[in-house]
Amino acid sequence: MGVINQFIYTLLDKKNPDDRRPQDFVQLYIDVHADDAVAVTSGNIINMSSIFIQNYDGDVKWGFTSILYHEMTHVFQWLPSNAPDGLIEGMADYTMLKANYFPPGQAKPGDGDSWDQGDLLGKPIDQLWQEYKDKYKHNV
Ligand SMILES: [Zn+2]
Repeated sequence: MGVINQFIYTLLDKKNPDDRRPQDFVQLYIDVHADDAVAVTSGNIINMSSIFIQNYDGDVKWGFTSILYHEMTHVFQWLPSNAPDGLIEGMADYTMLKANYFPPGQAKPGDGDSWDQGDLLGKPIDQLWQEYKDKYKHNV
């Protein structure tokens, strides 16, 4: 988990400890969930589904690690009450994808039919969308 911590700090530009959400430790529980959730994080507590792990179709270490990147991001995210859920989840997915964990069935670079289905950063939406589609013309 230390590797994941440092990856998140670097990716989210949290090199300065004063910028980080303070967490002295993280608790990880693997248990049966009543619903279909793969994992749920609250504060510094991650609850991962044993059913997800048991039924994972593929390299379970890979699947487990990919979920840890997502959930550990939640542990270190500042969570203002007005933050949209899509932003919170999007940051956690972004971390996972930047760590090269692309879940099966999730969009890969060049996929998508609209601007909010791809990896677009730092420029006006229209410009990003055009550059994105131009970059992957072979997939259009
Ligand atoms: Zn999440």
